[in-house]
Amino acid sequence: MLDKQIPFFDLKRTYYAIEGELNQAIRHTLESGHWILGRQLESFEENFRQQVFGSSQEKYPGHCLGCNSGTDALILALLALGIQKDDEVLVPSHTAIPTITAIRTAGAKPVFCDIHPETWLIDLQQIEQKVTPRCKAVIAVHLYGNMVDIFALKTLLQKLNRTDIKIIEDVAQAHGAKLKNAQNETFSAGALGDCNAFSFYPTKNIGAIGDGGGISTQDPKIAEKIRYLRNYGQRDRYNAILEGGLNSRLDEVQAAVLTVKLKYLEKWNAKKKDFLEKYREELGSLPLQFQKTTENCEPAWHLAVIRLESKKVRDDLQNYLTGQGVHTLIHYPLPTHQQEAFHKFKTSLPLTEKLATEILSLPMNAHLLGEEVSLVIEKVRDFFKS
Ligand SMILES: *Cc1c(COP(=O)(O)O)cnc(C)c1O
Repeated sequence: MLDKQIPFFDLKRTYYAIEGELNQAIRHTLESGHWILGRQLESFEENFRQQVFGSSQEKYPGHCLGCNSGTDALILALLALGIQKDDEVLVPSHTAIPTITAIRTAGAKPVFCDIHPETWLIDLQQIEQKVTPRCKAVIAVHLYGNMVDIFALKTLLQKLNRTDIKIIEDVAQAHGAKLKNAQNETFSAGALGDCNAFSFYPTKNIGAIGDGGGISTQDPKIAEKIRYLRNYGQRDRYNAILEGGLNSRLDEVQAAVLTVKLKYLEKWNAKKKDFLEKYREELGSLPLQFQKTTENCEPAWHLAVIRLESKKVRDDLQNYLTGQGVHTLIHYPLPTHQQEAFHKFKTSLPLTEKLATEILSLPMNAHLLGEEVSLVIEKVRDFFKS
């Protein structure tokens, strides 16, 4: 039977889908008596590395580490790459707040960039216009599961003679997305930047049962630095060699849960892809838009975002759907550059500002039922009929 309410995301369903395996993994970890920095984390980090860089360490060298959250992953990436106080970091304003929080906590300055009008991701032309000698990094946010073309970004930085600028991929919403290079080789999100950040917040493509985050890098020195920084700056027990460290470890219970979840990443991403395609097919003839992907990108949809023709239509549709029991959200209603915390860096970004007033996220996750997606489609169509 179909529940009359369609939740935006019901976390209980992510538990019941694999309850037996999760219970076993958690119990096993508790009974081991080792709850921080142990075998579960080592094992998860190796599986995570294979997912991001491929199974052959020789052919595709890479390093993956766990930490406490996606925000910490970004902070650790910035610190490990040597970003310092007052260094500038190019970043889209159209992102989740933590992308900007991390820049500020690391002491650096966000240089807000507008979006590309169709991909809704950071616009490379803006990078060209806003780059200054003080820029040390760019955070490429793969928003909603759609990837920034990192190859195009690298080409641009070469053209500008600024290959010193570090690339940080914010993969918090795009775990499992892929990008092809000109030779048609495929790379996973997080395999291309200098140091990249993942979030395992419960609703993300792979979610922990609490907070969790991860970092990927091809550089063994950066990996080593992060290994110390996440653990008070210690190299060995009771011996700190780096100052400014954090306590940001992915605990053993979360690591054990994530090892189980990682096995389902592709399957669950495929399910969401089907749902998104269904939304596109069935709603495509209505006056609304979906996010465009570049040809070489295979997204891993985290959200199903539609863009309406105006703020009024968006607000009316959201109210209508709420009345019909369909829960929707807006990602995000107020662009980060307009938020009080970041007023110092205020600027004008017309495309970002307009987009924020016209977008709406429809329910979409791997544990929705096909009938529920059909019902959402029916309700959206009904709205446009009336
Ligand atoms: C969720 C998210 C983060 C932060 O992750 P947490 O694990 O919640 O700290 C960073 N960037 C983006 C784009 C996100 O969606």
